[in-house]
Amino acid sequence: MNSVQKNSVLENPDRLPLHSVEAIAKSPVLVVAPHPDDECLGCGGAIALLSSLGCRVYILVISDGAMSHPNSQKYPAAKLRSLRIQETQSAMATLGVEASQVSFLGLPDSAVPMSTNPSFGAAVSACQKYLEAIAPQIIFLPWRQDPHADHRATWQMIQAALALQDFSTVAAPRVIEYPIWDWDTTQRGNQVNSEVTKAWRLDIHSVLELKQKAIALYRSQVTNLIDDDPQGFRLSADMLTHFAQPWEVFLEESALEK
Ligand SMILES: [Zn+2]
Repeated sequence: MNSVQKNSVLENPDRLPLHSVEAIAKSPVLVVAPHPDDECLGCGGAIALLSSLGCRVYILVISDGAMSHPNSQKYPAAKLRSLRIQETQSAMATLGVEASQVSFLGLPDSAVPMSTNPSFGAAVSACQKYLEAIAPQIIFLPWRQDPHADHRATWQMIQAALALQDFSTVAAPRVIEYPIWDWDTTQRGNQVNSEVTKAWRLDIHSVLELKQKAIALYRSQVTNLIDDDPQGFRLSADMLTHFAQPWEVFLEESALEK
């Protein structure tokens, strides 16, 4: 048994280097979210700051989010899907992103295909077309080893789509990853360690209030709006504190160090 445990960089985020948005600003920007809310939780401050600098910010939401309350009679799947689209559009509008820049791939929540799944190829093709149309200079992806399988599958899908693109004459986008479920210490793996990953913080203090306002708009996830499913999902107060900081933590592989 390997007794060497790597400490997660998320244990002491206050020690991570703090950068201002000017250090990363490029346009266009793409934020890819496995579920409708991850873009705001993980990157809401970055989205607001980049938008305010005039960067064109696009959002691609991979799954439909319909499994957050699978037993609700008041919000059956179709109604929940459309609610989650509306919540995302409202939240992104708050952060300066127009509805026309927010796209929904609509893959099934909790079943986003991994690279071993037969439907992976079709999803990758859809992402490839989207990436070619947007031509992002920066892409924010969920952390590749997030405890949630949909998050890992989303990373795999976009990486596979990028691998199909020709970057011989244009620069490949900078890929920046954001942790979500690693913030929950009961789920956290030991993979987020400083030996393989460059971790840093983005200073978002000037837009923190705006980010909190945007998060509150995901009412299906942060309130008891859907109160007829005892198994229904709700973001805990504990989890939300990690996304109420005046900074956001981002991860990049050392090999990609800029
Ligand atoms: Zn998620």
